[in-house]
Amino acid sequence: MLFADITVLDENCTVRPHRWVGVRDGRIAYVGDVPPAPDQAVTFGETYDGAGKLLMPALYNAHAHAPMTLLRGFAENLPLQRWLEEKCFPFEAKMTAEDCYWGTVLACAEMARYGVVSFSDMYYATEGRCRAVLEAGLKANMCEGLVAFEEKPYAEYPICAQMEALVRDWHGAGEGRIRIDYNIHSEYLSTETVCRDILDIVRGTDLRLHIHLSETEKEVRECRERHEGLSPVEYFDGLGLFDVPVTAAHCVWLSESDLDILERHGVFVANNPASNMKLGSGFAPIPEMMRRGMNVCLGSDGMASNNNHNLFHDMYLQALVYKGATLDPTAVTPQQALASATRAGALSQGRADCGMLAEGMRADLCVLDTTGPQWCPAPDPVYNIVYAGDGSDVVLTMCDGEVIYRDGEWPTIDVERAKAECATRTARIISEL
Ligand SMILES: [Zn+2]
Repeated sequence: MLFADITVLDENCTVRPHRWVGVRDGRIAYVGDVPPAPDQAVTFGETYDGAGKLLMPALYNAHAHAPMTLLRGFAENLPLQRWLEEKCFPFEAKMTAEDCYWGTVLACAEMARYGVVSFSDMYYATEGRCRAVLEAGLKANMCEGLVAFEEKPYAEYPICAQMEALVRDWHGAGEGRIRIDYNIHSEYLSTETVCRDILDIVRGTDLRLHIHLSETEKEVRECRERHEGLSPVEYFDGLGLFDVPVTAAHCVWLSESDLDILERHGVFVANNPASNMKLGSGFAPIPEMMRRGMNVCLGSDGMASNNNHNLFHDMYLQALVYKGATLDPTAVTPQQALASATRAGALSQGRADCGMLAEGMRADLCVLDTTGPQWCPAPDPVYNIVYAGDGSDVVLTMCDGEVIYRDGEWPTIDVERAKAECATRTARIISEL
């Protein structure tokens, strides 16, 4: 496809009008302020009229639980512990692998609709979830959720062999669209032995870790009681966990020493502003992380605590809430929020050639319709993207050069079927509770 005379968000999060962007073989093959030579242009295929449109890198969701889409609107207005124990756990205990598959299909449809091409997903029934993502044409870093209470080696847990098989069969599948991550759910749902064993497996490979970290005040307090005063960050650091690439979701309750550790190791912090606000968990110290130049990316988290995969909402919140929370209107800039949703998210997934609109990068792109009243005037459209625009302005989403959403249609997903399956399955589970 050749995007012709279109406004773009470039690699510095600056908006540039009148650009030509050519996509070939899954990559961005041409970016220029003049059309490519006619003999080259013809090799890009369809010409896309850029009038009234803005082309930007697609979004990367750094923390999700896709099958929890089935729980959308099911667990509302409850304190976290009751939300988890009275609602989420009983519901999830009834979920089958097929339920997880369909929840993932619907999540993929929703993400594609909002310009998201890739997500880091922590859940169960991983093989079906990988299949759903490949069929939908998206990308994902998938991990099988680990809950380990017994004092025994990781090898004696069935998930160990399961993870070996997942890495063997799925890591790098779909020309790299699927990656397998290892999971340690959290400090409170794992043992020291298991953490050390997983670290031994991941160290020296191209695999990564995806964990929950310091989400609530209670989690940090109880960790300090269990581990001689250590916070979850200090505890994991003591085990050497941050010696490998880690995406740590939440990171709401951090001390100065915690921040030092995460900064020193280049840990990717997946900020989930909507989820953290909805569950009353607090605000991660994002402005301080930005000041330190840390890797901050954005996640939707599960649909029981958000309730949408519209990452534009989370980007908006990240750019806005810290201004109010810290009484500093310069706390997080829109450009920083955009970088979190795009390039930082891609890097958190080990996708170095994704997340930027530049020649040679993978063609993960989305097009926004900027003709609506909320987009005018636009002395610098970058502010409209974050503060006035929305995921619902997305009219085209492309993943590795393939269109996965365009003008209300999903060429790779049967959305009506996915909606019907999910509605039926949620009704079945609720009737069983
Ligand atoms: Zn989570």
